[in-house]
Amino acid sequence: MKAQAMTAFGAPLTPMDLTPQKPGAGEALVRVTRAGLCHSDLHIHDGYFDFGDVRQPVAMNMPAVLGHEIEGEVAEFGEGVDGPAVGTRVAVYPWLGCNACDTCRAGDQQLCIALPRRSLGVAQWGGMAEYVHVPFADAMIPLGDLTPGLGALAMCSGLTAYSALKKIGTPPPEQPILLLGMGGVGLMAMALAKSVLPNPIIAADIDATKREAALRYGAVEAIEPNADAWQSAMSRHGPAIAAIDFVGAPATFGFGTAALRRGGKYIIVGLFGGKVALPLASLPLKPFSITGSYVGRLDEARELITLLRAGAAPAPPMQERPLEEANSAIDDLRAGKVLGRVLLRP
Ligand SMILES: [Zn+2]
Ligand SMILES: [Zn+2]
Repeated sequence: MKAQAMTAFGAPLTPMDLTPQKPGAGEALVRVTRAGLCHSDLHIHDGYFDFGDVRQPVAMNMPAVLGHEIEGEVAEFGEGVDGPAVGTRVAVYPWLGCNACDTCRAGDQQLCIALPRRSLGVAQWGGMAEYVHVPFADAMIPLGDLTPGLGALAMCSGLTAYSALKKIGTPPPEQPILLLGMGGVGLMAMALAKSVLPNPIIAADIDATKREAALRYGAVEAIEPNADAWQSAMSRHGPAIAAIDFVGAPATFGFGTAALRRGGKYIIVGLFGGKVALPLASLPLKPFSITGSYVGRLDEARELITLLRAGAAPAPPMQERPLEEANSAIDDLRAGKVLGRVLLRP
């Protein structure tokens, strides 16, 4: 199969002819129709994630195939797989674990630490190729007539947004929720929020255009992230029972945690990075909790596709490019020249 493969971290991708793994028992092979190019791909391509003081290295065998936002058609499956039928349009859930440990059995494959790692496009060959081998056939999620490309995006930014919303739980419905940062993932969460929670949503962003978008997607208010704007919003809605931070910077953390009511929950999704000094007594005295959210579970991915098929959120801007243009697409994304999402088509 033709692939745009990575032969060394940081080096341009190389067109290569690779042989996909034959699907064994319980496995499948999907013919890729679209692979989304994500900001995480840039970090994986660099070979590390920047954690402020330290660089978290990426472990990959070369040649590697990037692409964890995968949409395609079922091409083949091994013994013991009961559908979906060959030719069915599917998204492929990429955050696979070992499928055997306690974490995986509890449904949290995305948190599995067993080796070898299984995530597609991160540890195993992903979507920047004609075919992708799927180690567990139940990772394929049928798409029906969902807008082309939306299934691919749902597996990363969409799932990240949805899983963070689910972590809020079911607080009293009149208490507001604060969503911080209306970039791609934040806006997706804004659009999905009404399908997940009855609570009023207050959006915050420094950019007026993004605040307008949040209002269009159903925010009761969209404010600048500063104390005065929050005081004003809080006088109408009360303090927030939960906040999701789609930026993950010291400034958003300071603003967002101050906006919480007692017993509130702070959920960090964004990877902007940096450090904060936290008065430890504020945790028991306020009290509030802080948690992180990393992509999402397979069952959440299935729920999300069901919601999207029912029209829960509009498709973000997408541009399609031939897989052969993977390098220029990566360069454009690095240079901040991409509006919306690039989908590579093998
Ligand atoms: Zn991604
Ligand atoms: Zn596992």
